[in-house]
Amino acid sequence: MFEAISSPYLVNFDGSFSHDTFPTLVEGGVKNKSLKKQLRQEVKHLHDLQRVFYAHDRHALLLVFQAMDAAGKDSTIRAVMSGINPAGCQVFSFKKPSSRELDHDFLWRTTCSLPERGRIGIFNRSYYEEVLVVRVHPEYLKYQQLPASLDLNNVWEQRFESIRDFEKHMSRNGTVILKFWLNVSREEQRKRFLSRLDEPEKNWKFSANDVVERGYWNDYMSAYAEALKATSRPWAPWYAIPADNKPYMRLTVARIIRETLESLAIEYPKIDAKEQARFNEMRELLVSE
Ligand code: ATP
Ligand code: MG
Repeated sequence: MFEAISSPYLVNFDGSFSHDTFPTLVEGGVKNKSLKKQLRQEVKHLHDLQRVFYAHDRHALLLVFQAMDAAGKDSTIRAVMSGINPAGCQVFSFKKPSSRELDHDFLWRTTCSLPERGRIGIFNRSYYEEVLVVRVHPEYLKYQQLPASLDLNNVWEQRFESIRDFEKHMSRNGTVILKFWLNVSREEQRKRFLSRLDEPEKNWKFSANDVVERGYWNDYMSAYAEALKATSRPWAPWYAIPADNKPYMRLTVARIIRETLESLAIEYPKIDAKEQARFNEMRELLVSE
């Protein structure tokens, strides 16, 4: 089964996550210009690797992005996947669930969007919202049509167990799962909200509700800590990516994806002797036309 590649931002598998371990900003003295240049190199590698991944056709890659508002999920997805053949990759954004979605179990709507073998599927938010925003606002459970027999005192632990089982099942069957928490600081989020208010071309990104949710910052941080602790596993690791500097964040994410793809034993399918003989026949036929 797939084994996570190591990184300073890999969340331990033993449930020992602590916010203090993971910085929101890394000051390595490297200029943003250089980070951007390195990202372009990573994107080139990703482009080549994706072609092999598609042809190999044995694995799917699921990339899960979770973060507080304005951490940069959209722009990271755009930057990292910019060189990839659009036919091999799909992005799904999960917002507030519809009544149809609420009529199913909490893993249903995302399951319908899982990537096929050979493809890369990106979840911009995911089933993790069910142990994050719903945990911060437990009143949302009321709309979920849950059976009376469900033990509401244990609901989060039960959801973690369902998620772990689900991800293990997916992994055994060839889906490589990488989960990124874009770890932005409260102060940096404040600055980004202010620039959404102050710069006309960013106004459209501003939502008053995001400011309301910011008021629950500490509750969100506890919910993230619990979720990352309970669900970072070798076959479905969480990476807590410093998100206060966007070029650094994008490069770090791209690097982890590239190193993961390189660690898989993927190659272009080889043809056997029988197929080669058939190829030779076809070649002669075409040449003699
Ligand atoms: P952006 O703001 O960059 O367009 P976004 O992902 O923040 O992207 P929004 O439409 O602003 O999109 O917000 C989606 C909202 O839906 C978030 O507040 C999120 O917490 C909420 N949401 C997602 N999944 C669920 C869920 N299962 N239950 C309740 N709320 C959810
Ligand atoms: Mg939003």
